[in-house]
Amino acid sequence: MNIKAIIANGLAYGKVIKAHKHSSNHDIYSSNDEEEHKLVDKAIEKAYSDLESLKRDNRDDEELIKVQQMLVKDPLLYGEVIKLINEKHFTAHSALEAVFDDYIKRFNEARTTYLQERALDMEDVKRRVMLNLDDNEAINVEGEFILVTDNLYPSYLMTYDKQIIGVIALNGGYTSHSAILCKAREIPYVLVDDIEPLIGNVLIDTRKNIINEDPKQKDIDEYIKLKIDRESFEINDFRSFGVHIFANVTSNSDLYKVLKYNMDGVGLYRTELIFMNLDRPMSYEEQNKIYTEACDMMQDRNICFRTFDIGDDKQLSYIKTFHKGIDNYKNNPEVFETQIKALINANRYGNMKIMFPMIETNEEFQFLKDWVLRIKRELNNDMPLQIGMMLETKMAVENIETFDSCDFMSLGTNDLTKELYNISREETLNYRVFIKDLINTLRKVVEVLKEKGIGLSICGELASVKPVVRRLYRVGLKNFSVSAASARALNDALLSELEE
Ligand code: PEP
Ligand code: MG
Repeated sequence: MNIKAIIANGLAYGKVIKAHKHSSNHDIYSSNDEEEHKLVDKAIEKAYSDLESLKRDNRDDEELIKVQQMLVKDPLLYGEVIKLINEKHFTAHSALEAVFDDYIKRFNEARTTYLQERALDMEDVKRRVMLNLDDNEAINVEGEFILVTDNLYPSYLMTYDKQIIGVIALNGGYTSHSAILCKAREIPYVLVDDIEPLIGNVLIDTRKNIINEDPKQKDIDEYIKLKIDRESFEINDFRSFGVHIFANVTSNSDLYKVLKYNMDGVGLYRTELIFMNLDRPMSYEEQNKIYTEACDMMQDRNICFRTFDIGDDKQLSYIKTFHKGIDNYKNNPEVFETQIKALINANRYGNMKIMFPMIETNEEFQFLKDWVLRIKRELNNDMPLQIGMMLETKMAVENIETFDSCDFMSLGTNDLTKELYNISREETLNYRVFIKDLINTLRKVVEVLKEKGIGLSICGELASVKPVVRRLYRVGLKNFSVSAASARALNDALLSELEE
């Protein structure tokens, strides 16, 4: 079977497991009302029985739990959900969400405190029911497998962390967070036109652009040989050209590749992806343990943590999310402060950098920098710490001259190209449409920052697209940060550019 698009390169051989075919968190409409009814019923029943067990274990909270059970089984609420599915063909997810949100809003606007307080219960019930919807996506399988699915959601990759060795999907995009996770974990992720015929053991081979549905022993032997070869890959040393290669990581388990490939350090640690493993805020202790381990592993290299960057396809169930980092932080100061404290106390070697996402103005940057420095002072911490920002918004690029207190910037082309050229994150690999203009813009940015003495690196996915890498290098970008799976592509691009 031919591959329609390669999202993450690689080879994988193993059994095919299909994700259940039903509506997803991201779909609004479904073509199968009956399936959606079943999902609603299951999610509600499960929420009810979970509350029942909770009641047995928490006698003190019995009354409260009873109220929640009543809300879960409220016939009016249920009727409205079913109506949305029948009449508007909503998915279980979108129908439940719409109805719950409407109830929460009405409770919040109610005149009596009693009813206003029910809004909180309703939110809790909503969370409980919605989580059960996701549980329905459970795949029962042991050992490693190649996931075959309509859409790849980050939750699959998190739930089946060690098991998924390859992904074949109908839909998907290059810079989605699922793509980023696959690249970080070196899991090949490809798109095809039809997933129905895939059964048994298959071999994904992105070099040949095929899915071999009937691999022979010689194909499997070749796969094993290439796998061993891939394991022994090391990055070339480009330091004499002033070029440094860093890694984009999403968890501490990605860090061993930095050492194995002999990369210069971590250019982007997407901390929100560790947050997304939990449906509650991560404690100071939990975070500090992770960051300390990461800094220890990277002691002789720099490690740049990006404060949690949520919005779009990265949501946290326990806070209301905004598009921009600063809005998320200002509205959830305790979550931000816990992260910053955990980071600062983990900086035992002075090799840490902290950067903020989606900054638009110098004032926003200064506000967050001051906030971090205040926490650092309160902790009596005097370790060196560089504080910088992602350069990934149109506004920041347009006002690049105004930034003056940044230690460094990291170019986020995934968001930037979306803002500059109005194309979705998924389409950024159609770079031919905008690359000329982008390079011209970057030429000016590099010049301005050079004059200000602010270092610039790039951590967006364009840093691993061969023809783009050469052009980036030629306008003066020397620090590249890519996921492990893209390290080879970047290495090859730099070799051909620098060896000429
Ligand atoms: C970017 O926008 O280019 C980037 C690196 O950040 P993320 O992909 O996590 O939004
Ligand atoms: Mg971004």
